[in-house]
Amino acid sequence: MSDYDPNERRDTPLALKLKAQIERDGPMELGQFIGACLWDEAHGYYATKAVIGRGGDFITAPEISQIFGELLGLWAAVVWGQMGSPSPVNLFEFGPGRGTLMADALRAITRVPGFKDGLAVKLMEASQLLRALQEEGLADVGVPVAWTDRFPASEAVPAIVLANEFLDVYAPSQSIKTEEGWRWRAIGLDDEGRFQFTASRPTRLRPELDTMWPGAPLGSVYETIASHDLAEALKQMAGSDPFAALFIDYGHVESAPGDSLQAVRDHRFEHPLTSPGEADLSIQVDFADVAREMKVAGLAVDGPLTQGEFLGRLGIVERASKLMAANPAKAGEIEAGVARLMAPQGMGGRFKVIGVRSLNLPKLPGF
Ligand code: SAH
Repeated sequence: MSDYDPNERRDTPLALKLKAQIERDGPMELGQFIGACLWDEAHGYYATKAVIGRGGDFITAPEISQIFGELLGLWAAVVWGQMGSPSPVNLFEFGPGRGTLMADALRAITRVPGFKDGLAVKLMEASQLLRALQEEGLADVGVPVAWTDRFPASEAVPAIVLANEFLDVYAPSQSIKTEEGWRWRAIGLDDEGRFQFTASRPTRLRPELDTMWPGAPLGSVYETIASHDLAEALKQMAGSDPFAALFIDYGHVESAPGDSLQAVRDHRFEHPLTSPGEADLSIQVDFADVAREMKVAGLAVDGPLTQGEFLGRLGIVERASKLMAANPAKAGEIEAGVARLMAPQGMGGRFKVIGVRSLNLPKLPGF
């Protein structure tokens, strides 16, 4: 990956819109700025582009190897067994992208007696464009598939959730330590009318962060996704039924100040303020923060583990050998895909996996 010029700033249609808004109202909090970059109806990245895969801006694990989705499907089947093999049962995916993970998972699940019979697949997807791709990819899976664009309420049915690369775009925001204390980070305009990082109004202080990071130097940044909202949503969704969720994403296992906001466009990194609406913006997930909020909401947490460790325990090596023996012509490709998912310096180490479950379930498989 080579980088774009860090000084490059493009006046995309969304940049012009946001600048006008900032000129009128003053600095915009970063969470709101990122929200517009991703979801503005006319110009937002996810709202207007089908972004994932070889031809898109970035490539994800299910697009690299079919084994990823297959193993998660089998993981869900084992969880279903732990739940007492209930029927009906809901299998959710949050942020299903092109639908590849779910298609692979369902193919693997077919071989598990009984699981498919009472299974309903439910996809949470806010992008109409991606939803159309998902409809295409999942047309012939042989189980009912339904869509929602927001967190579902409890259906009083046991539920299993899969979510790969969903957390990193789930309402990221940052705070910055100033003379007056921690404040939400914001985007303003410099003398030349270009976006620049600043702090929100002094009324938007975050005293709780002074308690968390008392010695942090001025200018320190602390970032999180909307972990609290997520935990509340999962709690509502679970109700009093067996509930298990698996989140896989890049991030770190301990909370610490740091700035990981990144933009990716066309498989390259660029400065996050370069091309609003035309690049994917995300942060490294603070898994400790996610785990803390889940526990506060009354859910149990397993992990985090690295992706490499987790997939290893689910039997990725054995599965790859079988697949390679059955498709000798594709053996090289299969091996390369698995190596990429497992690389300790790459996805295998940088991606983490966390399990979230209702208290009435034992530790989830693989943890
Ligand atoms: N899981 C897929 C795609 C990851 S990209 C894969 O691994 O290939 C993130 C996905 O989450 C996209 O499908 C995006 O549209 C969706 N998404 C992000 N935030 C969302 C939200 N708040 N509600 C619903 N879907 C969301």
